[in-house]
Amino acid sequence: MTQQFGAFTASELFCPKCKRSQPVREKLLLVLPSGELHEFLCTGCGSSLAKRTVSRSARPASPAARPPPSPRQPRLLR
Ligand SMILES: [Zn+2]
Repeated sequence: MTQQFGAFTASELFCPKCKRSQPVREKLLLVLPSGELHEFLCTGCGSSLAKRTVSRSARPASPAARPPPSPRQPRLLR
């Protein structure tokens, strides 16, 4: 059930309701075209303490980025 992406996860956050640092669990809230919106819920009272977006793929800033043409061309050496 637990999905791990190897990315950062907060293990504890301060909960204003519990008035203390509480362990949190991460819940998938929304799936967006650009990534997924996760929510951190207090395990004590269930309050939403934080949100974060997880990029589906780390894409380069430039949309036109493509690999440079390969310089490997057959050459005849005499
Ligand atoms: Zn709480």
